Amino acid sequence: LIQLYIPLNFLGVIYRELRQALTDIERMFGLLGQHREIADASDARVLPPGPAGVRFEAVDFAYDARRPILHGVDLDIPAGRTVAVVGHSGSGKSTLARLLYRFYDVQGGSIRVNGTDIRQLTQDSLRAAIGIVPQDTVLFNDSLYYNIAYGRPDASRAEVEAAARAAQLEDFVARLPEGYDTRVGERGLKLSGGEKQRVAIARALLKNPAILIFDEATSALDSRTEKAIQGQLELAAEGRTALVIAHRLSTVMNADEIIVLDQGRIIERGRHFDLLARDGAYTQMWLLQQQEEALAEQA
Ligand code: ATP
Repeated sequence: LIQLYIPLNFLGVIYRELRQALTDIERMFGLLGQHREIADASDARVLPPGPAGVRFEAVDFAYDARRPILHGVDLDIPAGRTVAVVGHSGSGKSTLARLLYRFYDVQGGSIRVNGTDIRQLTQDSLRAAIGIVPQDTVLFNDSLYYNIAYGRPDASRAEVEAAARAAQLEDFVARLPEGYDTRVGERGLKLSGGEKQRVAIARALLKNPAILIFDEATSALDSRTEKAIQGQLELAAEGRTALVIAHRLSTVMNADEIIVLDQGRIIERGRHFDLLARDGAYTQMWLLQQQEEALAEQA
C-alpha cells in the first residue's frame, strides 16, 4: 500500500501546486470557478518573440449580451510604451486586461499584437508573451527561491538572484536567517503586501515578457510605500509594453498615455498634465484623491 501511497501523494502535491498557479491568474482576472471555452483557430500562428505593440480597435464586449461592458474602445500601446487605465470601480479596466490575455473574445472590433488579431495567434504563444503582476500575489508554501523561480522554472540560480536584485528584494533576503531558503506562504513567513508585490515583479522579470500587465493594489498605502511601488512599476515596465490598471493616480503620472474609462467608454485620454489642464473627469479624480491622501496622512 505504501508503494501506491507515495506516488498518489506526489500527484496530489503537483495537483495542488498547479491549482495554486492558476489561482494567481484567475484571482487577478476574477475568473475563479468560471468555465472558459476559447479555442485556438485551426490555422493559429505562433507570436514570434521580441517587442510587441498592442492595439485595441473599436472593441465592444459584454459578459452577458444584455449588459454591454465596453463600447468602441480604441487603445494603442506602441512597443516599449506604458498606457495606464483609470476609472471608477466597475468601469471595465480589468476587463481590458482579461481580453488582452484572451480569457474572452471581443464581440466587436479587434485586439492586435504587432498587427495580428490575437484570435489568429496560439494562446500559448500569446500568454507566453504576457507577464502579470497581480494585485494580490499567491505565494506557494515553499522557499522564497522557489516562489521567485516559478516565473521560469528552468532559470539558473544566477538568473533568479538577478531578478530578485532587480525587484529590490536583495536587502530583504539578506535579513532573513535562511535567505532564499526561507519558507514563505500560508505556513511560512508572512510577507507584507509590498514584499509580495516585489516577488511578483521578480517572477515577471524572470519570465521576461514583451508585454506586462500591472494590476495595482486597491488598498490604501502610505505615501512612502506608494512611491516605492511607483518605482518598482517603472522598473518592471522598462523596455516592455505595459498596460497598467491603476487605482491611484500618483502612480500613473509618468505613463505615456492615461485612459479614463467611464462605464466602458473612453471619456478622456492624454498625459497627466494635459489631462489636468483640461479640468475634466481626470482632474476631479485627482483632486478627490489628493484630499483622501491628505486625510489618510493625518489619521
Ligand atoms: P475595479 O476597479 O473595481 O477592479 P474594473 O474597472 O476593473 O473595477 P471590471 O472588473 O472590468 O471593472 O468590471 C466591469 C463590469 O463588468 C462590472 O460591472 C462587473 O460587475 C462586470 N463583470 C466583471 N466580470 C464579470 C463576469 N465574469 N461576468 C459578468 N459580469 C462581470
